[in-house]
Amino acid sequence: MKRILISSAWLNPQRSYDVATWKKRSNPFTVNAPITEHFGLRFLKANHPEITILEYPTGDQFINEASKGWDAIGISFYINETNDAVQMAEIARKYGVPEIWAGNYGAMTPAIQNRFDKVFIGWGELPLAEELGKSPAELIHPPMFMRIFFHGLQVQTWGVLFTSRGCNKSCTFCQTPRFYRKPYTLDLSTIDAVLKQYRAAGVSQIIILDENFGYFEDYTREIIELLDRYRLKWNPMTRVETLYKNYDLWKMYGMRGASIGLESLNQDSLDSARKGNDLTQSREILRWMKRDHLFIQTFYIIGFEQDSESSIRENIEELRHYHIDSPQIQILTPEPGTKLFTHIEQTYGMTTYDYSLYDTTHLVWNHPSIQARQMQKLQLWANDRLFTPMNSIRTSLKIVSQSFYAFDKGLKSVVSTPLWTGNINSFQVPHRELIKYGSRRGDHARLDLSDNAS
Ligand code: SF4
Repeated sequence: MKRILISSAWLNPQRSYDVATWKKRSNPFTVNAPITEHFGLRFLKANHPEITILEYPTGDQFINEASKGWDAIGISFYINETNDAVQMAEIARKYGVPEIWAGNYGAMTPAIQNRFDKVFIGWGELPLAEELGKSPAELIHPPMFMRIFFHGLQVQTWGVLFTSRGCNKSCTFCQTPRFYRKPYTLDLSTIDAVLKQYRAAGVSQIIILDENFGYFEDYTREIIELLDRYRLKWNPMTRVETLYKNYDLWKMYGMRGASIGLESLNQDSLDSARKGNDLTQSREILRWMKRDHLFIQTFYIIGFEQDSESSIRENIEELRHYHIDSPQIQILTPEPGTKLFTHIEQTYGMTTYDYSLYDTTHLVWNHPSIQARQMQKLQLWANDRLFTPMNSIRTSLKIVSQSFYAFDKGLKSVVSTPLWTGNINSFQVPHRELIKYGSRRGDHARLDLSDNAS
């Protein structure tokens, strides 16, 4: 049997590991949600217990581990982690590791694939089974957690759920359809088993990280009935039209918030991206969620070719009225393999192929009307407009009221999940360190906003 180590990219202080405050200015009421578990690696470990995984190691931890005589080392990375992944591969080679693999979205970049011996696109359980000489089996869903902190105190624990993988849409900027190819569901039996574990652990709610929860309609109905049966509250990641169609039903079955790909409030930009969002529905959904005090996370892109500085400012001012709890403002970043990348490269030209800058906080191409530095200032300005102390107070109140609900229903809210959940041979960097990593560092943080503040 091959000895296989699969590692995420090592920690880099230029990147943020706190999804709640990603590239935003912290305030006294901010909560933190450090990413402590690598969900892709947890799935691999649960389905192939014979491998070893390494989640968010420091550089020294990886180097130490790489020297231990592995038959293969796989590196799972995103595009902005490419430079680190290539360095990790070189280190593994120095230690004589015969096979170095690349996986996750970062592996989709053709220009770097020759730095690895094998490239795995899509979720890795199946190709890994082949590598290990095993037959394919039904996927097992491991228990996985996200923890919410307030000034270092853990205030909630969420159970993480994936009910399906992939997406049938074809937004021009998105790598997901090519990454997963065809969307598919996980077997209900493994969802049932993991929900039972979450219920027994007393998590305060479930966060569903499907690309497009609700796409498989009958299946989704069974999932929400299961969630209801276990009396679990939940937040799905979904599309605007899916949420619009199911809003009342899902709320009745325990939905407490949602993450939606709003992407833009500029119709021209949405049309060019073939996003398919109806802005009337987007606005109505945001109004409903604000009215019902649900958690709102929005993914929003600035810097489409149709965007101008004034249209961005106007749209962000509108967004401000919806009291978004977790606004994720990203600078449009064409990613290799997408229609957008080909279009931008041919029409405007890229300004850099340094993939560490493809992190949605840098403009990496020649925008027709906004300079790179100005785009970064706009991103920071947008975050400052949306992520205010008042906004953080509202979010904290939602968390407090949900925690009261959790206590009332016999849920524990704060769950101390074992660090080694699922018997994973993994390194864990303390939460406090993860919260600090990448909090407004580098060029981005040094920008002077004064000449553009409004
Ligand atoms: S942006 Fe969302 S809806 Fe569009 S293709 Fe990607 S995952 Fe699907």
